[in-house]
Amino acid sequence: MNEQELQNIRADFPILQEKIYNKDLIYFDNGATTQKPRCVVEKIEEGYYHLNANIHRGVHFLSQKATEAHEAARTTVAEFLHASKREEIIFTRGTTEAINLVASSFGEAFCHEGDEIIVSVMEHHSNIVPWQMLCERKGLTLRVIPMNEFGELNIDEYKKLLNSRTRIVSVGHVSNVLGTINPVAEIITLAHNQNIPVLVDGAQSVPHIPVNVMELDADFYVFSGHKIYGPTGIGALYGKEKWLNAMPPYQGGGEMISTVTFKKTTYNELPFKFEAGTPDYIGSTALAEALRYVQDIGIEKIAAHEHDLLIYGTQRLMEIEGMRIIGTAKNKSAVISFLVGNIHPYDVGMLLDKLGIAVRTGHHCAQPLIDSLGIAGTVRASFAFYNTKEEIDEFIKALKRVVEMLS
Ligand code: PMP
Repeated sequence: MNEQELQNIRADFPILQEKIYNKDLIYFDNGATTQKPRCVVEKIEEGYYHLNANIHRGVHFLSQKATEAHEAARTTVAEFLHASKREEIIFTRGTTEAINLVASSFGEAFCHEGDEIIVSVMEHHSNIVPWQMLCERKGLTLRVIPMNEFGELNIDEYKKLLNSRTRIVSVGHVSNVLGTINPVAEIITLAHNQNIPVLVDGAQSVPHIPVNVMELDADFYVFSGHKIYGPTGIGALYGKEKWLNAMPPYQGGGEMISTVTFKKTTYNELPFKFEAGTPDYIGSTALAEALRYVQDIGIEKIAAHEHDLLIYGTQRLMEIEGMRIIGTAKNKSAVISFLVGNIHPYDVGMLLDKLGIAVRTGHHCAQPLIDSLGIAGTVRASFAFYNTKEEIDEFIKALKRVVEMLS
């Protein structure tokens, strides 16, 4: 990405011009949520001003237009993930709801007492707790893939965990704490050798690296719109048709039915079977706009720029005495978790904030991972394609000041 392209991109994100305590905002909290380009916000405005009517079954003009936009958004998501059929895309509120849907619905149909579910030690709570709840409900056991000192999953141990009782494997593609890009293709192949399906949590991958669900042969793949420059409250579940057809509905209500009588209700076909109630049709349309925006820049170009930021940021951080980077996998996304000496991450984050720099501190919704590392939390800088090396320089300057003050 050349300097001019980068400046043009930054101009698309009005919030990047904000002042925080009279300082230029440096936003390094993209792992938590990303900022929105003007075209996404305009799509929301256009939706409410010119396109708003409840979708599906409406005979009138606006309802038909809104339905077309929502269904076109489904096609955009399907194409973005390289799904084979648009019916395999279910709109959800985000990653969390998508995982809950699968845990609940797949769990209901396919899991029985004594069965096992495999997750990894580096999962976000949203890829742990729904499975734990299922385990409690059905008497299942949760098995955990361990990792090495660099934050890479131990595939030999994973192979040992797979057995005839394993019903599903659910792993993150990219760790939101360590930045590790997990070998999900290999994880899927190994599971498929024993006819075990795999869910991939793509919350931190879809915005940053190319994803092809068909090539991966993932059974389920989930992500959140707000982490890929889209609105909050919308995301998607990709599921292979054969699984989605075999799973019972997640929620009951309007839209997901075919016929209703007090004696018996029959369910709608895919994808509607899993979309009870009025969907966020404005959100879906704005999400599609965000995906188009990302596609226009090019996900390979985004990945390359963010990789440069990762390498540069890591190098510069290592200048600081007492620096400890948590997560040094060979294959890493642009997330840097760190600690400096014995300084509490919260203090670092608070003082950086006063200098206009937004980073995240704490356990990052991955308490079991943080516990396994024997630490209280980390400071996390996570980059997006609109970030620059100059911002990293400012960040390092600020961090040096902060460390001096706290040492
Ligand atoms: N998984 C991972 C790896 C995440 O980073 C996050 C968000 N931090 C989630 C799941 C949950 O996403 P959401 O809150 O958008 O549902």
